[in-house]
Amino acid sequence: MKSEMSLRIENLLNSANLRRTGPRAAILSVLLQADKPLTQGQIAANLAAVIPNKVTIYRTLASFCRAGLVHKAFMHKRAWHFELADKCTESQCHPHFTCKSCGVVRCLVGLSVSIVEGLKKGFVIHRQQVRLEGLCPSCGGKKSM
Ligand SMILES: [Zn+2]
Ligand SMILES: [Zn+2]
Ligand SMILES: [Zn+2]
Repeated sequence: MKSEMSLRIENLLNSANLRRTGPRAAILSVLLQADKPLTQGQIAANLAAVIPNKVTIYRTLASFCRAGLVHKAFMHKRAWHFELADKCTESQCHPHFTCKSCGVVRCLVGLSVSIVEGLKKGFVIHRQQVRLEGLCPSCGGKKSM
C-alpha cells in the first residue's frame, strides 16, 4: 500500500502532467511538509543527502513553477520563497504575513482579499500576491514599533 504522502505527490505530478522522478518526488515531499514558503537553499539543505546537486533542485523548481504546481510566494533577503500552489486560486495567492520583530512568516489561508480595482486599460492581471508586515501574535503584545 502506498503512503498518503506518496499518493499526494503522485496526484500533484499527474495534475501537472509531469513524470514522477526521484528529485521531483523528494522536492514535493519537502514542500508538502512545510508550513511556510521555503527558499531554494532551505530545500537543498533538507535534501542534501538525496539530491546533492543544487542545479537539479533549481531546475526542478523552475519546471514546477512553469507547470503552475509551485508559486514563488515572495522575495525576501534576495531569495525567492517557494510553496505549493494548492492553497492559491487561479488569479490570487493567499496572503503572507512577515513579523518585523521576530521574522516569522505565516501563510494566511482562508482570508478573503479583493482583487485590485481601477487598473488602467491594457493591463492584464495574471495573479495578485499580497504581503503584509507587522507584528505576529507573540510579538504584538510586547513591543510597539
Ligand atoms: Zn500562490
Ligand atoms: Zn513575531
Ligand atoms: Zn503561503
